[in-house]
Formats: sequence, structure tokens, C-alpha cells
Amino acid sequence: MREERRSVALPARIGLDMIGIPAGEVLDMDLRLEAVSEGVLVTGSVHSEATGECVRCLEDFRDEVEISVTELFAYPGSATSETTDEDEVHRIEDELIDLEPVITDAFGLALPLQPMCADDCPGLCSECGVRLAIAESGHSHEILDPRWAALADKLPSNERPEA
Ligand SMILES: [Zn+2]
Ligand SMILES: [Zn+2]
Repeated sequence: MREERRSVALPARIGLDMIGIPAGEVLDMDLRLEAVSEGVLVTGSVHSEATGECVRCLEDFRDEVEISVTELFAYPGSATSETTDEDEVHRIEDELIDLEPVITDAFGLALPLQPMCADDCPGLCSECGVRLAIAESGHSHEILDPRWAALADKLPSNERPEA
């Protein structure tokens, strides 16, 4: 059994349209590699930071993202290797374990489809589009009574009641 703690720079961006981990971002890996009868079992976690755009308020934000890994890499010639397809169980090739596809897939699934800068992001004002998170508290617009508004539309602007 071996423990591996490594930090590597991500070679290429992982992610979706609205959120992803940019190329060059550091991946902190904390993994255990265990020799089992059929191969090497890799378990542990990988941590990084994603950059996204909030679907509610459209602000850019950064958020931590962590995945856990549990993956068997089969020895060439082992029963597991002989009885499974290559896309079912990973293989050890030339005595190397290629974690990149495992990590890429796991981060792809861990990233939210609807990223938000905060769980309670208040979004944008539906009237004027200001970000409610930075608007003064109680931000609102005078809503005219609809009948009054229809009348106001008919008046020349200088005779309209102040909103
Ligand atoms: Zn937001
Ligand atoms: Zn507003």
C-alpha cells in the first residue's frame, strides 16, 4: 500500500459551459494505491477550484470542488482483465496507472449544471436588472396600480403622477 499526495497543474480545462476548472489550475490529490489480487485499487480524493458564472446573477465566481475516487486498475492478464471490456475496468499499462480519464470524468459529474455564486443568490431585480446582492436593502420599485398606470400612459408626460 502506498499513499500519494501530489499537486499537479491541470493540463486542459475540464467542465461545462457555465462552470469548469481552467487549465493550469492546481489539483491536490490525496490518494491510496493498494495492491489487490486483480490489480491496483486507487482510492482517495482530489480537490481543486472551479471558475463559473452564476445562472442567477451572471457574476463570475470561484468555488471549491472535490471528488472521491475508487477505481480498480487491473493487472494485464488478470482474470478481471480477461473477463471485462477496457471501458468497464481500467488497465495498468506498462506498469503505469493513467488517472486522467478517471479524474476528468469525476469532475465533469461533480460540477453543477446550474452553478450559483451562493446557495441563496438573490439574482437580479426583475424590474431594473440590478444585482440584488449589492443593491441597497429593500430595493424595490413603486408599482402603480394597473388602472392608474393605464391612465398615466394617456397623459402627456409632464402631467403624469410621479412614480
Ligand atoms: Zn449569483
Ligand atoms: Zn430594481
